[in-house]
Amino acid sequence: MTILVTGAAGFIGMHVADRLLAQGHAVVGIDNMNDYYPVSLKRDRIAQLQAAHGRLFTFHELDFADLDALHAALADQVIEAIVHLGAQAGVRYSLINPHAYVRSNLAGHVNMLELARERRVRHLVYASSSSVYGGNDMLPFRVEDRADHPVSLYAATKRADELMSETYAHLFRIPMTGLRFFTVYGPWGRPDMAMWIFTAKILAGEPIPVFNHGRMQRDFTYIDDIVAGIVGCLDHPPADDGAIKAGGSRAPHRLYNIGNNRPEELMHLIAVLEDALGKKAAIDFQPMQPGDVHATYADISAISQDIGFAPTTGIESGVPRFVQWYRTYHAER
Ligand code: NAD
Repeated sequence: MTILVTGAAGFIGMHVADRLLAQGHAVVGIDNMNDYYPVSLKRDRIAQLQAAHGRLFTFHELDFADLDALHAALADQVIEAIVHLGAQAGVRYSLINPHAYVRSNLAGHVNMLELARERRVRHLVYASSSSVYGGNDMLPFRVEDRADHPVSLYAATKRADELMSETYAHLFRIPMTGLRFFTVYGPWGRPDMAMWIFTAKILAGEPIPVFNHGRMQRDFTYIDDIVAGIVGCLDHPPADDGAIKAGGSRAPHRLYNIGNNRPEELMHLIAVLEDALGKKAAIDFQPMQPGDVHATYADISAISQDIGFAPTTGIESGVPRFVQWYRTYHAER
């Protein structure tokens, strides 16, 4: 197939493109290379894909919220499926720059829905987020649970994406799958996320900021497990048979959690990082941040049943792999 991957210069997008290309698919990547975090990392990810896969990988630097630019770039391009991972990510930044979220996650998402409709794609798989569960205290989070009390604008845009996608799947009978990712980490990860920030600060001998005085739990999910879930879903679009799908829709639209199904105490993550780095952390305890939630924990029974998803990497083995990549990446630059 020829598959459009948005956010291809991003953390998850790069890994998904890499896996699809390795399977022999042609991948058309899109990314606007915005400077939310260092653009050099995004350029390095694209260079890595180009070096590994040559002409099977085509890349367009463009903003998918700009419909004219999108149409112009893809005018002569066959597209059979879409993996839409491009978005303005990050909970805390949505308090600082809300319009970036409106542009990329709302207007940009609608453009992807329109593209899916115009091209009659076999399947649109798109990124949602565990943040849609908001301050829900019922753990684990199940796709059947209410997700209409978001506590950040980021979460609200992701929930809106799910609702708009369901509408398009219903109106135009296009198979779609929304995936609620739970705190993803691994090689080529994101510099704005805790694992990268903690690693950089521990190595520099600086104190690490730990919010809510360390009383936080996250369902950390290793990138290879996330990629297996995304690619597994892409291969199995929801049927348009009127049956109720995961998440409660009769349209060919479903929602899955993709997590590790194991919430970890933040302080345990720090201990595992200290072991992997061979260095103790200095901790700067801070209060809870607006927009944050205390705990995330994915119920993955729906995706396990439907596509046999089974995560294999816990933080004890995943964190050392991230640390090894982090050291090599910085040693080479
Ligand atoms: P990322 O920021 O590394 O990747 C997103 C990419 O999208 C970036 O490279 C960015 O430049 C690009 N982008 C943003 N707006 C764009 C636009 N208008 N046009 C073109 N490109 C644009 O983030 P990631 O961690 O790879 O996340 C991928 C997806 O998964 C996102 O939708 C994110 O919200 C979601 N998600 C990630 C996590 C996680 O833990 N990493 C958790 C939940 C959900």
